[in-house]
Amino acid sequence: MKAEIIAVGTEILLGQIVNTNATTLSEELADLGIDVYYHTAVGDNHDRIIGSLEQAQKRSDLIILCGGLGPTEDDLTKQTVADFLGEQLIYDQKALAKVESFFEVSKRKMTENNRQQAHIIEHGQPIYNPVGLACGCLYQDGRQYYLLLPGPPTELKGMLKEEVAPLFSKLFPQEHQLVSRYLHYIGIGESKLDTVLADILHEQTNPTVAPYAKSNEVMLRLTASGASKNECALLLDELEEKIQTLVGEYFYAYGKDATLEEVVVQKLLAERQTVAVIEGASGGECQRRLSRIPNFEAVSAGGMTVPNKLSKECGLGLSSEQIQFDGEISLETTIKMAQAGQRLFGADYTVAITCVAGPESIETQVPGTIILALLTPNGLKTQEMIISRDRTYIKDGAVKYALELLRV
Ligand code: ATP
Ligand code: MG
Repeated sequence: MKAEIIAVGTEILLGQIVNTNATTLSEELADLGIDVYYHTAVGDNHDRIIGSLEQAQKRSDLIILCGGLGPTEDDLTKQTVADFLGEQLIYDQKALAKVESFFEVSKRKMTENNRQQAHIIEHGQPIYNPVGLACGCLYQDGRQYYLLLPGPPTELKGMLKEEVAPLFSKLFPQEHQLVSRYLHYIGIGESKLDTVLADILHEQTNPTVAPYAKSNEVMLRLTASGASKNECALLLDELEEKIQTLVGEYFYAYGKDATLEEVVVQKLLAERQTVAVIEGASGGECQRRLSRIPNFEAVSAGGMTVPNKLSKECGLGLSSEQIQFDGEISLETTIKMAQAGQRLFGADYTVAITCVAGPESIETQVPGTIILALLTPNGLKTQEMIISRDRTYIKDGAVKYALELLRV
């Protein structure tokens, strides 16, 4: 099964939006064991969409178009695909009822073009939209399939998960199961990981290992192919054991979308302990990330942003002498910040983050100088390091290493 994705939208060609739908679709299809051979982007133009379809028809079994299913003038994907296939557009009654009831309930006046969102290609089947109004469509033409999906990423994702994936699992059953496992590491760079795992990386054919460098951390994707999910799991266990023997000390979580803040909040929730965060140049970023995790309120004792001498004095009640602030950041001041934070908020864990975020050095301290202090029920932990790059990367590093201190 060779699949190809055609993203429709002039805004993609103008560079106004990133074609994230192609990424989402490719990932989902890979999970379903369907190989994607081509990505195309084409403008909202009838003739050029026809051109893309002619090319796709020659080389692909599954042709997925996304975008242009809406009600406006430039939304011409359905009509164009119908023209290409020599079919008409018809209304899907269930989708039409949804459009009409949406306008009735929201007491908005429905214009005629809104009905177009309930169009499907005659002889095709509707793919319902759990998030929005535009109905998708799957059309079979001999050995080829055409799938039409909407442009808005949340609608596309919702339809993929709830409608397309179950349907494709039945239509295109996998001869082989493909199972991926994701491992996250912090404190080891991609090149070092590459060197340490060199033999494993070069030898593996099944499972395969792919490192992904992320900001201040690395993710490994292990993918096994086998006759059953169980067989894949055994292969992955075996490989993972070899990998963890070498780099296990840097490992922090499983799962494609796992984050340090999530791990930290889960740990605090499980242990019923609280945290306070005192931030210098990271500007509240650590607190912001933690607060995105559900139930953070249950473990948060408070937080404060104190980027300069005055804010440290006023906010934390530290005197000039206590801060010993001569422009440079210091371990002493960072520890004092954590201690003052603990007095203020009374948390089980209080972490203080200071860093030189750049672009300028402070006296002799180069951008990327990071100092962390964590007060725990068992005493003080500190860390000093230098990571070099731009301001965003440095702040991200300061936050991630602070979270890592909290995690272990
Ligand atoms: P609508 O009903 O919103 O008009 P639609 O199916 O007609 O949906 P488009 O009009 O093509 O889709 O795109 C709507 C919005 O969805 C775009 O403005 C853009 O924000 C987003 N979008 C469209 N295509 C993509 C894509 N390939 N990748 C990421 N986002 C996209
Ligand atoms: Mg549109």
